[in-house]
Amino acid sequence: MDQALEAKIVARGKQFFQSIRGEAPSIFNKGFWTGKVMDWAMKNEDFKVQLFRFVDVLPYLTTSDALRRHIEEYFTGQGAADIPAVLKWGAEKSGMFGGLAAAVMGKAIRSNIEGMAKGFIIGQTAKEAVKSIKKLRKDGFAFTVDLLGEATMSEAEADAYRDGYLEVLAAIAKEQPSWTALGGGKGDLDWGSAPRVNVSIKPSALFSQAKPVDMEGSITGILSRLVPVYRATRAMGGALCIDMEALKYKDMTLELFKRLRTDPEFRDYPHLSVVLQAYLKDTEHDLADLLAFAKAEGLPIGIRLVKGAYWDFETVVAKQMGWEIPVWTKKPETDAAYERLSTEILRHADIVYFQAASHNIRTISHVMETAAALCVPGNRYEFQALFGMAEPVRKGLLAVAGRVRLYCPYGELLPGMAYLVRRLLENTANESFLRQSFADGQAEELLLENPLATLARETSTTCPPSSPPVSKGGLTRFANHPMPDFTVADLRAAFPRALAEVRAAFGRTIPLVIGGQEILTADRLASVNPADPDEVVAQVCQAGTAEIDQAVSAAKAAFEGWRAAAPQDRAAVLLKAADIARERIVALSALQVLEVGKQWDQAYADVAEAIDFLEYYAREMIRLGAPRRMGNQPGEQNRLFYEPKGPVAVIAPWNFPLAIACGMSAAAVVAGNCVVFKPSGLASAVGFGLCEIFRQAGLPDGVFNYCPGRGSVMGDHLVEHPDITMIAFTGSMDVGLRIMEKAARVVPGQAYCKRVVAEMGGKNAIIIDDDADLDEAVSSVLYSAFGFQGQKCSACSRVIVLEPIYEKFTARLKEAAGSVKIGPSEDPANFMGPVVDAGQQKTVAHYADIARAEGRILVERLGAGKGCYAPMVIVDGITPEHRLAQEEVFGPILAVMKAKTFDTAIDMANATRFALTGGVFSRSPKNLETAKKRFRVGNLYINRNITGALVERQPFGGAKMSGVGSKAGGPDYLLQFMDPRVVTENTIRRGFTPIEEGDDWFE
Ligand SMILES: Cc1cc2nc3c(=O)[nH]c(=O)nc-3n(C[C@H](O)[C@H](O)[C@H](O)COP(=O)(O)OP(=O)(O)OC[C@H]3O[C@@H](n4cnc5c(N)ncnc54)[C@H](O)[C@@H]3O)c2cc1C
Repeated sequence: MDQALEAKIVARGKQFFQSIRGEAPSIFNKGFWTGKVMDWAMKNEDFKVQLFRFVDVLPYLTTSDALRRHIEEYFTGQGAADIPAVLKWGAEKSGMFGGLAAAVMGKAIRSNIEGMAKGFIIGQTAKEAVKSIKKLRKDGFAFTVDLLGEATMSEAEADAYRDGYLEVLAAIAKEQPSWTALGGGKGDLDWGSAPRVNVSIKPSALFSQAKPVDMEGSITGILSRLVPVYRATRAMGGALCIDMEALKYKDMTLELFKRLRTDPEFRDYPHLSVVLQAYLKDTEHDLADLLAFAKAEGLPIGIRLVKGAYWDFETVVAKQMGWEIPVWTKKPETDAAYERLSTEILRHADIVYFQAASHNIRTISHVMETAAALCVPGNRYEFQALFGMAEPVRKGLLAVAGRVRLYCPYGELLPGMAYLVRRLLENTANESFLRQSFADGQAEELLLENPLATLARETSTTCPPSSPPVSKGGLTRFANHPMPDFTVADLRAAFPRALAEVRAAFGRTIPLVIGGQEILTADRLASVNPADPDEVVAQVCQAGTAEIDQAVSAAKAAFEGWRAAAPQDRAAVLLKAADIARERIVALSALQVLEVGKQWDQAYADVAEAIDFLEYYAREMIRLGAPRRMGNQPGEQNRLFYEPKGPVAVIAPWNFPLAIACGMSAAAVVAGNCVVFKPSGLASAVGFGLCEIFRQAGLPDGVFNYCPGRGSVMGDHLVEHPDITMIAFTGSMDVGLRIMEKAARVVPGQAYCKRVVAEMGGKNAIIIDDDADLDEAVSSVLYSAFGFQGQKCSACSRVIVLEPIYEKFTARLKEAAGSVKIGPSEDPANFMGPVVDAGQQKTVAHYADIARAEGRILVERLGAGKGCYAPMVIVDGITPEHRLAQEEVFGPILAVMKAKTFDTAIDMANATRFALTGGVFSRSPKNLETAKKRFRVGNLYINRNITGALVERQPFGGAKMSGVGSKAGGPDYLLQFMDPRVVTENTIRRGFTPIEEGDDWFE
């Protein structure tokens, strides 16, 4: 710590505070509605949540009835006592009096919130924006204009976003000649150095298909629309800054910045900047990389340094995905990082034009004093603040630094609300400098303290981190395998390598494995790549009835020994298998990409789920393996424990070729049973992968027998075998019902009532309420319906839309579906690939005909090439009696249905024979409660997609014709693979009774 510099920073900060004494940002001004409401929000967390959620939904409440209903639902009832009078009164009145009073009250609340939003936005149209800019410039502030926009669902929306920029630039171009340069700058430049026109842009909004897994395609897609905007900016002599959004876009943003900067068309034009976020732990590395780039290319660059606007989002996403937290988790760490980064940037002022964006007086003072200490010329840096925030700070800055630019969002209120919520969160967060300074009245000494000192103080008073939680058997608590993070370049590079390796082994012969012996049979079945059926993944030996008899015998022979193994030892094999799968996760995923046509992320998630099953069931067996005492009467010992059943047939599907096969097998095996495993003929190579994992993990011979075979030849034989005690099946309803029927019939020699656990189909619906967030709803419906070509039992095949939002939703869905790419799944640019085989292709084509007959086709798209492409179909006008509303297709066909009321929508959703998954997009607390009670499916998902259940967190399985048995990946699943036994022992011998711990005895 440089003490002299530190003293100057604090002195500068004090002066700053002194210069604005008595002033407060408008958002904290309690003389106005916003200030009052913010004050309440900061005092009451529950109200804050309700308020921010209400702000979020408000633009969707287009009728006075919808508005009244939501005001009531959000602000009356439980906890209403904690709601500020201004809202409570309004909410109650709207409910009590209805009619006119409600309308007036609703209008008042709406206009107050819209007023609050407008405080952060310079206008809703280009014309308004230009007018506000003119006024700001008159007050001495430069601007950077930003068009509001968040998620871009379709290419049409991305075009509109680009055009919005071109429109505002055209409007500014007309005005620009009349602007005199700020700060007495000569010629056209503000302060003598900065272009008068400045544009900020969110790159992801320029391409609807931007995703980290397809880095190259995303960069090209974004640049195709960014270049025209930059060209127009340059034509006006303006500057452009590429905003930084959520972490998943960071690397592509930095890369496209470099490409644009070195583009021959723009190479000689210096006014291009990019944003870096100090809260990211990686930013120091990114800054070093940018500096090296600028030096190597000999090109000046601009950097805007911010702390980062997505802190809550990044931390929650990382937690949910099982990723390392990418941001600093203590506020002073971010502040200190900002100081380090800004110092480094200022040291390179010869090649970097620095834009310091912060409302924090300590941070600003640090930049000012560091720049002075490093003798950085004034024309090499400027300060920036957000329009509508921290007015005293920006005023003070203008007085001291002169060079202040305001970030000026413009655009409609609908996308504006997401921006408003971010600003409200930022202002009201406990850690916010503005809140601490202007609302909480924190001492200046603390506000101006060096963040490293704050950090040292805070860490010395916090408790040391507790050790990781431990579950039974000394294992760490179960945690899901992390989701793939395709922002990691190594992972992106590993996939093409693994795909090449799988391809190099194409055509190999896969044997059966029975009792540990590899067996070759004459009957072989080729497993092919659905994207190119000429490519044979493997020639798979097929079991006939004789091999099935052999496998059941092997299972029977191995049973006694395996049953006797301690639950811990059986669990240990599963844990070893999990280690092996973890090690090979990319190779195992690549095989699925080529054998069944899963996209990279879907394949990876499948292997991750398999790992989860292994880890979870291992822990479950340890939990269930300990005998449990029942009752507590003295003189009597009752012990409940579980025992395996014997040989179990596991019949697995192709759509989750590793996860489901592994889940059913692992459960059977860890419970002490022996398995005869029949993989699907379409995914037998992946099934063999499971066999290899178990073998390498040390599972004794005969405990897991790999028996691919034709269902028509050996399926019934396996199910009807007298020594099979249980069948674990996942697949179609028809086959599942047949298995149940066969298993119910007792055959000669059979000593066991067979149990069937069958996971079957679904006809899953998502309800779109009239207040649903359409950005979320459209992307989730698309993903749920067409991810892996809709070939999931959990996939969405009906979307039931409330009438008031029907047109809007279907229009956006149609555009979005028209924008995704279709092609081989091994190309990560493609969202949808071929279906699994020609049979499936025919089925889907047949249902596409039915769709044409029953409804009105909104979208029909087909992939090109020789793969097994089935059409992506979205059809509307479907009603509950239609076949498309009742029959499972297991392919990319989505029926759109219209409902008048939310209750009708639930009735429609329930009106099938299935009850597997379901979803609701709604922001009405009341309707969500109704859905929880009345939407009767095994797995109901609210405001998210409906596929991808996670082990332990979302145990999976349905009822009605969707299946029998309890949920996979849940606490009851293993019990199905065991028989409970109770041993009762009388411990009284001639009146003498040892009293045991836990006995219900006297003190
Ligand atoms: C002109 C301008 C442009 C901007 N452009 C972008 C952009 O492109 N991308 C972007 O992401 N943001 C952008 N922002 C928003 C910016 O990130 C926030 O306004 C900024 O983080 C607020 O910081 P501060 O120094 O003003 O306030 P402070 O109150 O000092 O800092 C608040 C910030 O600290 C961080 N923080 C909060 N809690 C913690 C914690 N527990 N641990 C660690 N860190 C924490 C967060 O980043 C939070 O925003 C921009 C801001 C301005 C002024």
